[in-house]
Amino acid sequence: MLEDLSQDCKIVIKFLQLHLAGKTVEDFRNFFLSYDNICHLDELKLFSHNLDLPAPYDKVWLEINKVIDPLHIKNHTRPKCKELYNPEKVKKQVPEANLMCAEQTFAWLGRYKRIFNSMTKTHFHFMVHCLIKGRNSYTTYCYKNKKKPLLPSAKIAKTLTVLDVLFKYILHK
Ligand SMILES: [Zn+2]
Repeated sequence: MLEDLSQDCKIVIKFLQLHLAGKTVEDFRNFFLSYDNICHLDELKLFSHNLDLPAPYDKVWLEINKVIDPLHIKNHTRPKCKELYNPEKVKKQVPEANLMCAEQTFAWLGRYKRIFNSMTKTHFHFMVHCLIKGRNSYTTYCYKNKKKPLLPSAKIAKTLTVLDVLFKYILHK
């Protein structure tokens, strides 16, 4: 569990650095990070103070908004989680936000599971990269044209979230 969390930390910090490159502390305050285990990340000592990064990224974790998506918040029984990481916070600022996009993309990506399983690591990373790029272009195109992207049913087993897949991909880059 602790090992998983430290791995998640590295992935999240790397993701924030890449995604918020060139942004200011003011921008960080308008940024929302949704992750199903964010409460446990936030409790780590590492995240209780400024990070050991050049300014303004030293403040990135403390300044961004952290939420848990509506599907996973139900599993968080502590009142603290429901208060601090309530997904409604996003809806107030960005009413059209789709916090389920990671689950949806994961359900879509799950269709390639058998194909991925037969690949070498390098081939797998390359394939995921190409597929995600293509899928993101398709999703962007759909929303720009007021269409809903086609998705498989949400019944597909969820052993990993798509964020895990993407973050692992980013980490290996
Ligand atoms: Zn929690």
